[in-house]
Amino acid sequence: MKSLGEYAVVVAVLLLVAGCERAHERPATLAVIGLDGGTWDLIDPWISEGKLPNLAAIAERGCRAPLGSMKPSVSPVIWTTVATGLDPEEHGITFFLRTHGGDSPRPVDSGMRTAPALWNMASRSGVDVAVIGWFVSWPAEALNGRIVSDRAHYGTGVEGRTFPAGYLADLKPPGPGKVTEAMPRFLTADYDPKRIAAGRATDAPPDDRINFLVFDRFVRAWTRDRFYLDAAHRLLDDGAPPELLLLYLRGTDDVQHGFWKFMQPEFFEGVTEEQVRDFGGTIENYWRWVDEELGLFVDRLPPDSALLLLSDHGAGPAVGEFAITKPDYMHLSGAHRDTGIIVAAGPGVKRGCKVEGATVKDIAPTVLAWMGMPVGRDMVGRVIDGMFEAGPAVAREAGSVATWKRGEDTDPGDTDPDENDPVREDVLRHLRSLGYIN
Ligand SMILES: [Zn+2]
Repeated sequence: MKSLGEYAVVVAVLLLVAGCERAHERPATLAVIGLDGGTWDLIDPWISEGKLPNLAAIAERGCRAPLGSMKPSVSPVIWTTVATGLDPEEHGITFFLRTHGGDSPRPVDSGMRTAPALWNMASRSGVDVAVIGWFVSWPAEALNGRIVSDRAHYGTGVEGRTFPAGYLADLKPPGPGKVTEAMPRFLTADYDPKRIAAGRATDAPPDDRINFLVFDRFVRAWTRDRFYLDAAHRLLDDGAPPELLLLYLRGTDDVQHGFWKFMQPEFFEGVTEEQVRDFGGTIENYWRWVDEELGLFVDRLPPDSALLLLSDHGAGPAVGEFAITKPDYMHLSGAHRDTGIIVAAGPGVKRGCKVEGATVKDIAPTVLAWMGMPVGRDMVGRVIDGMFEAGPAVAREAGSVATWKRGEDTDPGDTDPDENDPVREDVLRHLRSLGYIN
């Protein structure tokens, strides 16, 4: 039989353990969701009108703030800073394209990244990680988890589209039938693929041309986002959910570039009433769809999951200093702004926080600390501790390392992007259509 003294020791030890309990626990799953070009300027009014109930609910139970962007306002560069915590010169992705030697330019790819991304760091730490559609994630790197790279929607002809190879090989973006079915909830004009094709030529009649530009933009945006959302659902169906999940949706930005003038025709010349009727609600409808999808996605995460939603930059009408001047891109009417969005929710996140001055550079350190992984002291941002109930203790407990960089930072396997890029021309054409490259 134990003496009272022995019980006292046990009680003391238990109290000590309780006292040392971590102020911050790693969530069951931390889902980081990138919504390209998201801005409170649009989202807030729609939230107050009850049009984005899921985003509203997430913000309501957690923490929301503006998120500063960076220069250059080039999405693959920014999303790679988000994923690495480093400036472009340090992570190696400095533009949409790179040219090397006398080669023709080609879109940036994961093999050009010279620093580890959050998924490499997680993988090295034994964390089960999943990456879906993240900018510059093709070719998919080998890691402790799964990658559906940002070229996966082009189909199985693309080598390195996923890791493990062959993962979700049967998953395809929606075809023309599904597009026709989905279209009415986004725009009221009839979707006629033949008429769109007719407007492809730059010298097509203006009506056909505008029809092509808006529809092509919309169809590409929606089919791609639909594909990666489907991939996310499949992934969550497929056994244990990952501990860290990064999902990126790009269509929001594409649609904002293409449809802004129909939403706010007062800033632009030559927008017809018919166009306002047909396309004026497209950006809003797109966000309402994203919100609905967000709700479905969040519902499928395990209990005690955490969420981090963010955009890489804000957006606004392409007027004044943001006006588009290149003749080839006059069909575009949305432009980037410096301030994007961040929303966090889940166990340990402060409800109704006050966060000021956070930027896209703070995301990697924040995610690391949230996951209980050490922050790189060479990272250019800081842990956004104002989001957490435990405050600065979150970063303190996670600790730090001098750097996460090491010799072999990325491993895109055997895929050589120089040799295996059947969709390069299509990717370039899309970047050109957005005015991002010449
Ligand atoms: Zn953009």
